[in-house]
Amino acid sequence: MLDRDIVAEYKLDHDFLSEIYALPGGREIKKCIQCGTCSSSCPLSYVMDHGPRKMFSLIRAGFREEVLSSNTIWFCSSCYTCAVRCPKDIKITDVMYALKRLAVKEGKTKGKKAVVLSRNFARMVNTYGRNHETELMARYILEADLLHALKFVPQGWKLLVNRRLPLFPHRMKNMDQLKKILRKVDELGEI
Ligand code: SF4
Ligand code: SF4
Repeated sequence: MLDRDIVAEYKLDHDFLSEIYALPGGREIKKCIQCGTCSSSCPLSYVMDHGPRKMFSLIRAGFREEVLSSNTIWFCSSCYTCAVRCPKDIKITDVMYALKRLAVKEGKTKGKKAVVLSRNFARMVNTYGRNHETELMARYILEADLLHALKFVPQGWKLLVNRRLPLFPHRMKNMDQLKKILRKVDELGEI
């Protein structure tokens, strides 16, 4: 069921569903029986604007703006719990990824801190072939959350001193091969 305030606030886009069908994994939404297993299994649904079940319901009803500007797609941590438990074998996590790409493409990311984290994580992987936590956190703090982050300075310092945060990145061997794979993924995921 959809909330009345959502129905009142947003315009419906009747082409949205066909657009989602064209995304990687998007057509699977058709199979959703709205059982709610995904939302009740999702460890992060309590901070999401809408759980996965409701996202699919909103997509079907044409709530483009509500879906693409929701925090749900950015809070999804890709844990795959929902996808493993879905009785219809819907690749929910892949749909979340596809929605992220669409939201980025349509500029629906303003003010979303998770986007800064996500973009910089991708940058780490593209540069080093793996994450470099220290640089990732530094970039995130500078771009998204300088004031709030100051509270975490003592913890960060302790982690550094205890060598739990590596100061320098370790670049993966065979970066050329990884770059080829990432280029191919980009081509395949093009929307
Ligand atoms: S678990 Fe699968 S079928 Fe059930 S609501 Fe979620 S996506 Fe739909
Ligand atoms: S993959 Fe995302 S939506 Fe699914 S259970 Fe994990 S966090 Fe929730």
